[in-house]
This record gives sequence, C-alpha cells and structure tokens, in this order.
Amino acid sequence: MVDQEKVKQGIKLLLEGIGEDITREGLLETPERIARMYEEICGGMNENPSEYLGKTFHTDNSEMVLEKDIVFYSMCEHHMLPFFGKVHVAYVPDGKVVGLSKLARTVEVFARRLQIQEQMTEQIADAVMTCLQPKGVMVLVEAEHMCMTMRGIKKPGSRTITYAAKGVFKEDKDLQNKFMQLVR
Ligand code: ZN
Repeated sequence: MVDQEKVKQGIKLLLEGIGEDITREGLLETPERIARMYEEICGGMNENPSEYLGKTFHTDNSEMVLEKDIVFYSMCEHHMLPFFGKVHVAYVPDGKVVGLSKLARTVEVFARRLQIQEQMTEQIADAVMTCLQPKGVMVLVEAEHMCMTMRGIKKPGSRTITYAAKGVFKEDKDLQNKFMQLVR
C-alpha cells in the first residue's frame, strides 16, 4: 500500500527543490493527485501472479500457446520515468492452460511497479513457469524508455528488446524461431 502522506510530502519537497512555488494555483493539488496516481502505477506490488495463473484448465494440446501484443506501461526504477511497449508471452502446455486474459493480468502485476525491463521479462517468464508448470515459456518485451527519448541521448522511437526463454524454448532453436516469426 502507498503511504499517501509520505508521497505528498515528497512531491512538495521535489517541487520546492526544482524552484517551484508550491502555493501557486496549478500546483496546489498536485502532491495529492500524484499520491493517488502512485496507488495505481505501483498497484502491482501488492499483487501475486498466482491470483491469475492459479486457475487452470486441463488440455491435451501440447502446441505453443501465444498471446502477443500485450500493451504495458511501467516505470523505470533508475529515473522514475515511464517505459512502455508490448509483451509477447508463449508457453507449451504440459496438460494445463490458463484463460488468455490471465497472461495479460500477469504482465500488469509486474509492470505496475518500479521496474527494469530485463527483470520484468524474467519475472513474467518465471511466474508462468512456476504457476502453470508448462514444458517451456518464452517472453519477449519491446519497449520505449522515456529516460532514453526525452532526456540523455534523446533517441525517439528507439526500442529496447529483451527476452527470456525457459524449458523447451531454451533447448529447441526451431521452436524459438517459430515464436520469433509469429511475433514479428
Ligand atoms: Zn531509466
């Protein structure tokens, strides 16, 4: 849970620190507004992916299941600026599948907190591996980082790609290639 009072105090200090007048009209409600906003932006911290991945259905199908183009918004923990893009999640079931919306929910759990992209990619893959116990998981994340595009080296449109491959996706290069073709 977000300590609203602490965030409010922190934002006031930040505003003063950058030389703002915290009593001017436009800023009066900003600290409170941001405190409420962080409740949502960091809402994933209080969630466990097993809430979503715990309910499974039996299947005899052992072909790859792919949920692609899951849009996400997260916050980089180094600059507290947004990074956002798409996640593609695939797994090869071993008797169990989940509802497809549950993969998107799982992405949200790990996106809605301060993150680094590499870690988020691993966490999503690990959660699916642990909860579903499939034969393998592959996760690919492509994202634009505001800390790259609005400050620093300013390269708008540049994307960072990370991926994690577990189980059969790690061993079977043909399967990896199939995944890559499907998400391109
Ligand atoms: Zn950053």
